[in-house]
Amino acid sequence: MRVGLGFDLHRLGADRPLLLGGVEIPGSPGLIGHSDADCVLHAITDALLGAAGTGLDIGALFPDDDPAYLNADSAELLKQTMRRVGGQVENVDCMVLAERPKLAPHREAMRQRIADLLGIEVDRVGVKATTMEGLGPIGEGKAIACQAVILFREDA
Ligand code: MG
Repeated sequence: MRVGLGFDLHRLGADRPLLLGGVEIPGSPGLIGHSDADCVLHAITDALLGAAGTGLDIGALFPDDDPAYLNADSAELLKQTMRRVGGQVENVDCMVLAERPKLAPHREAMRQRIADLLGIEVDRVGVKATTMEGLGPIGEGKAIACQAVILFREDA
């Protein structure tokens, strides 16, 4: 078994849908980024790369100055990463840091989408959210961040 850690942050304010965990969250500006800026899937992808011992991070695999990844679907980037590392995810836990919108109504959809992408049961996916109590750039609603941890089993 191996454990991996991921973190990502994107600024809010793009004129496009807000995507978190591969789910479109209505009623909010989108995240700014070269790809679709889904910070939840980016944190999960980095956790997976770490757990699998690749020595890589998401920016090395999918550079944010490569036109091939302009507006890239982060679900597709995660699937490509899964194929690269092989093995099996045992479970994943995510902590989303966002002042708004409220994510509780979307939690189950996010868990199911992440479970589908990782090929695991939904009870192996945690999605938790917290505000920053108004403090700092996340608290001021200027950004959303996500931490993720993954337990990973290598191919036998
Ligand atoms: Mg990112």
